[in-house]
Amino acid sequence: MPQQRLARPEPEIPPARPVLADDPPRFLLLEREVEIEYRPQMLAALQSKVDAFAATARGTAPACPQCGQPMRCQDTREVSWLARCGCLHAPVARYRCPPCRYECRPLLDLLGVEPGRISGALARLLALLATVAPYPLAARLAWLLLGVTVSPMGIWRVAQRLGEAAAHHTDALSRYHADSRSIGAPTQSAPSAVVLGVDGCNLGMQVRSTRRRRKAGETLPPLPPVEEGRFREVKTGVLLLPSERVETSPGRRSVVRRFLVTCLGDADAIFARLYAQLRELGWVGAHTVVVIVGGPRGYPAEWIWNRTSMFVRCCEILDFWHALEHAWEFAQLRYGEGSAQADRWVHEIAEDLRAGKVQEVIARLQRVRPKTPELRESLQALIRYYSENAGRMRYDEYLRLGYGIGSGAVESAHKQIVHARFRQAGMRWSEAGARRLLALRLLLLNDNWALLDRLRMVSLA
Ligand SMILES: [Zn+2]
Repeated sequence: MPQQRLARPEPEIPPARPVLADDPPRFLLLEREVEIEYRPQMLAALQSKVDAFAATARGTAPACPQCGQPMRCQDTREVSWLARCGCLHAPVARYRCPPCRYECRPLLDLLGVEPGRISGALARLLALLATVAPYPLAARLAWLLLGVTVSPMGIWRVAQRLGEAAAHHTDALSRYHADSRSIGAPTQSAPSAVVLGVDGCNLGMQVRSTRRRRKAGETLPPLPPVEEGRFREVKTGVLLLPSERVETSPGRRSVVRRFLVTCLGDADAIFARLYAQLRELGWVGAHTVVVIVGGPRGYPAEWIWNRTSMFVRCCEILDFWHALEHAWEFAQLRYGEGSAQADRWVHEIAEDLRAGKVQEVIARLQRVRPKTPELRESLQALIRYYSENAGRMRYDEYLRLGYGIGSGAVESAHKQIVHARFRQAGMRWSEAGARRLLALRLLLLNDNWALLDRLRMVSLA
């Protein structure tokens, strides 16, 4: 090898090292200069607005929310918090109701800031970065995009406080709509059909309840592999309207709108969320057919079918590709893995199923004479599966009605919510951490990020 490299003829002109400009373009420098120059002025302007607001709020004693009596001013202390242009401060009065022992600081509530913490727009922007990137990368982005120095832990803290607020709101909404007296959006223009799908996967959970702390110079041993029982299932639900499916290119369909829900919980929890979202949208009227697609990737579909009775009119569809997977299993056993014959056989089944001929397919399977007990067992399982699900395999009809026949939409949504942020190499989650970040990620993907402006950050000890 070295001889070969030596033997290669060198070009006559030596290569030139790539050239870097000595300075950034002038305009870039001007922009940066202005930013540095005006930041103190922005801080001063913001501080004077805060002062003016604090002055108007001064001197009015609030009434105790428990007994209605006017509260007594206990003391006034200087409080500061962090914003994008720097540290703000205000004198904050603490009120107390002696009989109830209830205390409050109304100015902080009105401003929506927390003592000593990152607050306001900066908090929301940092949480946004945490929603799309792992915490250390989000901290680097914060510096590059916002010119703010913050540690990964600082980003984590902000995401937890806003995430808790978002998660709490979603929980409350699904509890509210679980009550029959809840008021949803008007349903007079409810669509004739809504498609609903559910998918799930496992998240690796943290084994320890506390974080590991590194002492100076010490290298931590690698984390042990995730054990059995250290996983939690995270589920995603998708809602979309068949009428809004458009064919972007032949055979490729995409949806204009879709609404996503997610939870770290059981089937009842995800269905409660789907139901709450349907109520919020006003999508289920007296005549709406709820189309439920079940069974992506060998996913136990029973818990989906067991819950369809909550909808008055519904249409259950067994995921077409999942139905074919079962045929594949038998075909490979019969004709050998990767054989052209198996390919052809499954292709024929697929054509017939797509044409709605599930009964013909079952009859044909029953005429097959398997040669070994193993084959016989596999064939019987396939026949049983198709017979049990025949009512969910009227694919010609579903295609004609525009319902679709696969769970591709929910699978891709699930990947976007969960895989892209939660299943990167070596990631482990705490229950609360995953729940809060999921809530934030959902706001972003549902194009509902602005909701955070109307939620109060939750102080966490
Ligand atoms: Zn009171």
